Amino acid sequence: MTSANIQINGRPIVAEEGSTILENALANGFHIPTLCYDSRLVPFGGCRMCLVEVEGFPGPLTACTTPVQEGMKITTESEELYELRRNTLKIILADHPNDCMVCQKSGECELQELAYRFDLGDVAWETSKYRKYPISDDNPLIQWDRNKCIMCGRCVRACAELVCDFAIGFDDRGFQCTVNTPFREPLQQGLCEFCGVCVSVCPTGALLEKESIGKGRVWEYEKTLSTCNYCGTGCQMYYHKNPRTGRIDRVTGAATGPVNHGLLCVKGKFGFEYIHHPDRLTRPLIKKNGVHVEASWEEAIGLVAQRLNEIKDKHGPDSIGFLSSSRCTNEENYLMQKIARAAVGTNNVDNCARICHSPSVAGLSAAFGSGAATNSFEQIYDADVLFVIGSNTTEAHPILGMKVKQAVARGAKLIVGDPRRIELVKFGFADIWLNLLPGSNVALLSAMMNVIISEGLEDRDFIKKRTEGFEEFKKGVMKYTPESVAKVTGVAPDLIREAARTYAGAERAMLIYSLGMTEHTQGSENVMYMGNLALLTGNVGKPGTGINPLRGQNNVQGACDMCALPNAFVGYQKVTDPKARAKFEKAYGRKMSPNVGFTSTEMFQFKIPEGKIKAMLILGEDPAQTEPNILHIRKSLEQLEFLTVIEIFPSQTTPYADVILPGASAVEKCGTFTNGERRVQLVQKSIEPLAGLADWETLCRISTEMGYSMNYSHPSEIWNEAAELADHMFGGMNYKRMKYSGLQWPCPTPDHPGTTTMYIEKFNTASGKGVFNFREHKGPDELPDKTYPLFLTTGRRRQHYNNGSMSRRNAGILEMWPEETIEINPADASALGIVDGNMVRVSSRRGSVEVKTHVTDRSQKGVTYMSFHYDDCLTNILTNDALCPIAKTPEYKACAVKVEKLGGKPKSKTGAKKKKA
Ligand code: SF4
Repeated sequence: MTSANIQINGRPIVAEEGSTILENALANGFHIPTLCYDSRLVPFGGCRMCLVEVEGFPGPLTACTTPVQEGMKITTESEELYELRRNTLKIILADHPNDCMVCQKSGECELQELAYRFDLGDVAWETSKYRKYPISDDNPLIQWDRNKCIMCGRCVRACAELVCDFAIGFDDRGFQCTVNTPFREPLQQGLCEFCGVCVSVCPTGALLEKESIGKGRVWEYEKTLSTCNYCGTGCQMYYHKNPRTGRIDRVTGAATGPVNHGLLCVKGKFGFEYIHHPDRLTRPLIKKNGVHVEASWEEAIGLVAQRLNEIKDKHGPDSIGFLSSSRCTNEENYLMQKIARAAVGTNNVDNCARICHSPSVAGLSAAFGSGAATNSFEQIYDADVLFVIGSNTTEAHPILGMKVKQAVARGAKLIVGDPRRIELVKFGFADIWLNLLPGSNVALLSAMMNVIISEGLEDRDFIKKRTEGFEEFKKGVMKYTPESVAKVTGVAPDLIREAARTYAGAERAMLIYSLGMTEHTQGSENVMYMGNLALLTGNVGKPGTGINPLRGQNNVQGACDMCALPNAFVGYQKVTDPKARAKFEKAYGRKMSPNVGFTSTEMFQFKIPEGKIKAMLILGEDPAQTEPNILHIRKSLEQLEFLTVIEIFPSQTTPYADVILPGASAVEKCGTFTNGERRVQLVQKSIEPLAGLADWETLCRISTEMGYSMNYSHPSEIWNEAAELADHMFGGMNYKRMKYSGLQWPCPTPDHPGTTTMYIEKFNTASGKGVFNFREHKGPDELPDKTYPLFLTTGRRRQHYNNGSMSRRNAGILEMWPEETIEINPADASALGIVDGNMVRVSSRRGSVEVKTHVTDRSQKGVTYMSFHYDDCLTNILTNDALCPIAKTPEYKACAVKVEKLGGKPKSKTGAKKKKA
């Protein structure tokens, strides 16, 4: 990198060549006023506020767009510049409403601030004849007042450059020019995904969050930095608490967030209404004569402890099961496993990673020796080729979807493997779409590797130096030619070849995947196969490469790291290892069970019906809605002698509970979440727990009442204990170090910076080498047949989250996507005599649901799609509970169904129809 010697206001500065005057001024403490500038956007030079003088240039230059040159002498303040900037402001203000005193943005408005700084109280405001727009109020989340727009273009550029949606643009010319949607349609009928990024970059009150209008003034709010509690991306945000009401009125993205850089998606930005929703559980409930009645904390916790102790004494410790929560903090997950292991004496503890990402732990461990993401999310930008497989990234992990789209805009090639024409395909970001049939991932990846080996595109040097098992793997995989798998995958052989050449030809190729790979009976093998592909081409162990599993819930990674798992203590130390047991026996002061416990799927499917599990404590999970084949799960729940559920809302599971303890949302407690790139970030309390106790306090009280004392005064003490016991991963991590941008494990010592790229020198396997694993393609447990002729695959919609308990309790979000629909291809719909909006009965071998149809080519012929967010249409009645034999994860992503049209006229158009169909 070459540099340039410049002077700003007489001070010598060494500037990076290619950097702008504004960047160097800001970096060196010189303030230059701006309105259209945002460091995340391509400089625009539109507002003319950043004019500076440069010696030798005849007139002032815009600092934001002018690159430095050797020897430049720059002046940022002078009388002439002051007058120029003041006159520019006058022109802007002449076209601006004069309602500052009642404007929601007052106190935060950048235009107001500059008007004050430039002493513009005397300007003749609102002289324009042109800005007389009605306030656009036709969507549930964003208010758009074009009269306050100063045409800085930040919203337009942010939507195009950061979100890559192009949902808004400049409309018309001259004085009439304003910002609008294509064809001036309402926002929700176009390409807008309601991430609110436009609102967050708007310097004035032109774009506002509707929910916050009229609730309080900017300067009143108490802002708390925390981490999003929806998906596993790990966006950082500020909760804005109104001290007068004690309520959260607004959420804004934190610019310091190492993943999101101030951006949020629709759920992170607008999905906070649930916090104060009247449905919140705020009192403990005990079931008496079949009815839940209110009880004191003392009574409820006393009963839980008494019943668990009784059942333990009568049936033994292994008769009790614990389901911990990937929605809760690391500290709470640590306590759950500690109660199970120390207070009760069983390893029957699991978390909901079992039904999503356990195959990632198994598959990545088999290939690399550790079951976590290999590279930082930020390295998406460093890849030449991105291979997104089994991940609807833009909807399920929108901020990462934005990164993928930005990378493509910067020149990266994108391969998508998905049965559905997801947005990355539909909107032209993907260079290659591998439209594989559900459950054919091993066959597809085998054929790609067959091509790579056949054409000599493998990285022989890497294979020789850093891997083992290649020759045996090669023998097996050479059977899988693109032609031989065409029928099972449904993908044209030439497309497979093109994808193989593209991936293998990259200098840096990164794999990104999610539940489309893991929620299969071959889930662990699917993940191993991505490991094979990365090893084959040397795409691991360096920046811009590797394999990144995208975690569905906010703390899937952390719940596993804390080892709310049946086979390991915190830090993946095996319960079967006598040395590990001795260590934890010393730390916990109790005997540790040497037996691997039951997984959650084993508990629900087999061990409760067999009478082996008699009682359960479930923290923040809703198996009666989210497990597969839920009619069977419900029978199991009925069979339990004693069930305790800790939840924030009544759920499908709470009716089965003998005791319901009110949970605390993430806004009501401190702790940490670990995102999908192994980054542990702080969760900070913004309001007091609505029910009086945070979940970690509830767990401590249960344990203490059971006779195993837990006396932590703050979650940081729990973290420190876990970190000390797993110092190979967390030894250098404490709350102080993690305060702003968190740390990525492994971070074993206080001076370790954290690990952005894994396996640079060696893998974590016994030999230090990456391991090739050959497996045959088996396909899904259930294939379409004459009776059930269509595939059903399931997933998430952008607006909602898992069982919908939080996202459906946000009126604006619910209005955008109010009900479940089944996606069906036009050819299948036509064959069944179905049109968009028809009600249909969808049946599998396990049960039926009635649902509205959404006829769309997003789902390919023969494949239907549903989410599982709605409690009035329980999709998991249909899904298959066949398990991956290694990870015990169910096959949510492929089951066979039939669709039958019900009588009656089509109902109103589906919510989906209003969006991008
Ligand atoms: Fe929250 Fe995930 Fe959205 Fe980020 S992408 S704001 S973590 S839901």
